[in-house]
Amino acid sequence: MDTYKNDLQVLSARQLLSRRRAAAARLGDVERVLAGSLAEQTRRCGKPGCRCAAGEPHGPYAYFTPRAAGRGRLRYVPAALTGVVRRYLRNGAQIVQALAEISAINAELLARRELS
Ligand SMILES: [Zn+2]
Repeated sequence: MDTYKNDLQVLSARQLLSRRRAAAARLGDVERVLAGSLAEQTRRCGKPGCRCAAGEPHGPYAYFTPRAAGRGRLRYVPAALTGVVRRYLRNGAQIVQALAEISAINAELLARRELS
């Protein structure tokens, strides 16, 4: 990542290794991750005479969309689980960020022929 590159070039190898260790420590719980997004939507049930027909829709309800182009798209998330899903998403984003930083550090070490 170019954003890291300029920062990293001014660091000593020792500083790079220290920063790499700190990034690795941020990996944390690699089991509790989700890649995707959580969005809220309102719904109309279609029953005549319901308040939603008069423009007051049900919800909002939470839906998870996985990032990978895999099976399924929107997946309903019960209210009791939205906090857990948000935590998994945050954790996943943090891990992706930490891995990108580690990789950028290693690329810099490689450029110096100091990768081992
Ligand atoms: Zn309704």
